[in-house]
Amino acid sequence: MYSVTDPATGELVEETPNASDEEVLAAIDRVHRGYTAWRRRPVAERAGIALRAAELFAERSDELAAIMTLEMGKRINEGRGEIGIVVDIFEYYGTNGPALLADEPLTLKTGRAVIAKEPIGPLLGVMPWNFPCYQVARFVAPNLVLGNTILLKHASICPRSAAAIERVLHDAGVPEDAYVNVFASSRQIPSVLADPRIKGVSLTGSERAGISVAAEAGRNLKRAVLELGGSDPLIVLDTADMDETVKATATARMRNCGQSCNAPKRMIVMADIYEEFVDGLTKRVAEYYRPGDPADPSTTLPPLASVAAADEVAAQVRTAVEQGATLRTGGRRIGPGAYLEATVLTDVTPQMDAYHEEIFGPVALVFRAGTEEEAIDIANDSPFGLGAAVFGTDPERARGVADRIEAGMVYLNRSGGSVADLPFGGIKRSGMGRELGALGIEEFMNKKSIRL
Ligand code: NAP
Repeated sequence: MYSVTDPATGELVEETPNASDEEVLAAIDRVHRGYTAWRRRPVAERAGIALRAAELFAERSDELAAIMTLEMGKRINEGRGEIGIVVDIFEYYGTNGPALLADEPLTLKTGRAVIAKEPIGPLLGVMPWNFPCYQVARFVAPNLVLGNTILLKHASICPRSAAAIERVLHDAGVPEDAYVNVFASSRQIPSVLADPRIKGVSLTGSERAGISVAAEAGRNLKRAVLELGGSDPLIVLDTADMDETVKATATARMRNCGQSCNAPKRMIVMADIYEEFVDGLTKRVAEYYRPGDPADPSTTLPPLASVAAADEVAAQVRTAVEQGATLRTGGRRIGPGAYLEATVLTDVTPQMDAYHEEIFGPVALVFRAGTEEEAIDIANDSPFGLGAAVFGTDPERARGVADRIEAGMVYLNRSGGSVADLPFGGIKRSGMGRELGALGIEEFMNKKSIRL
C-alpha cells in the first residue's frame, strides 16, 4: 500500500493500492516501447526538455515543497531549498548534456577511433523518502538526457511526490512512455530486474534494500548504482571560532531532521577543544532545535518522516544509553506525531551498537581524539564511507587528513550539501557508483568504441 500519513500528527491522509503484477508488466512494456523513439531524438532536443523541466520545477516549487511537508515532514523552507537543487540538476544536464555526450576522438598507434556515448535502455529507479524530489532528479536528469527511459518506483510514503514529479516531466515534454511512475511494492522488484527489457537499476536507500537489489541485479547481470547509508565523520582539528564551528556542525547534523545520508553523524574532536565543543553543541542543540509544525517557516525541528522512524531512532538512543553512552541532551520521543528531541550523545565506544550503526535522525555523537592519527582511525572505523568533513584552520593539514579518510566525498570546512556539478557517491557499505556532475551521466552509458 502507498499511503500518505502526516508525520506532524500521525494522521492517515490517503491510501493508494500497490500496482498489480499486470500493471507493473504494462509499465515495463511502456518504457521498453518508449525507448527507441526517445533515444533517436537528437541530444539537443532531450537537453531542451531537461531545461524546460528545470523551469517547471522552479514554477511548482511551493506545491512540491508542500507535498513533501505533508508526506515526510520536511520543513517547508528546506523543501523549497530541495527544489532549488533539483532545478540546478536539470539545468546542469540540460546545459552540459550535449558536450558530455559528444564523441570522444582517440588516436591509436594504428589509426583512429572514437568513443560514442550511447544509452543502454530502460532503467529502474528505486528511490527513498528523505529527499523525495532531489534523489529522483539525480538519477533521472542525466539518464533522460543520455537517452535512457525510466521506470520509477518511489518510497511507499511518497505517492504524491512521485505523481507530481511525473507530471512535471510529462508537462516539460518527456514522452509518457519515456518516464513512467509505478506504485510497485518492493516485493515486485526482483521480477522487474529479471525482465530482460530492463537494463539497469539505481537504488537510493538503506543498506538492506541495497543488498537485495544488488543481488537481483547481479543474478540478472544488470548494472546497478547504489546510494546507501552513511555514518559520516566530521573531524574538528582546531578552530578560530568555536561558535561558528559548533553552529555549522549542528546545522549539518540537524538538516532534514537528521535524515540525510551524508550528514555528519560522528563528530570527532581533538582533546584540547573537546569539552568546549561538547558544551557548545549541547547548548546549541538544546536551545535552538524546538519541535514545531513543519509547515511553519519558523520551525527549527520538524517531525521525522514517520512514527516508525521516530520510534526506531529513539530506541537506538535508548540502547546507546543502556550500553553506557552519556546523554548530553534530548532523546525523548514527543507525540502525537513523529517528533524526537534533538539529541547529543558522548562516550560511545566500539562495544556499543551506536558506534557502528547509522542513526537516521536528529542525533549527534561526539568522540574525543588524542591525536590526529586517532581522529583518522575513529573516522575510518566504520562500515560506511560516504561524505566526511574536516574542519581546521590550516588548509594543508585539513587536506592531508582528507586524503587519509575512507569516503567517496570529503568536505573541507563545510559539511554535507550537494551541488549539481560535483559527483556524489560512497564507498564501503555506502554504495557504489556516482551521481551528479560529469561522472553521473556515465553510469548507464554504453561507451562504444568505433574504430575508424
Ligand atoms: P529504504 O527503506 O531502503 O527505502 C528506499 C527505497 O527502497 C524505497 O522505495 C523502498 O520501498 C525500497 N525498498 C525497500 N526494501 C526493498 C527491497 N528489499 N527491494 C527493493 N526495494 C526496496 O530506505 P529509506 O528508509 O527510505 O531511506 C533511508 C536510507 O536511505 C538511509 O539509510 C539513508 O542513508 C539512505 N540514503 C542514501 C543516500 C545516498 O545518496 N547515499 C541518499 C538518501 C538516503 P518501500 O518504501 O515500498 O519500502
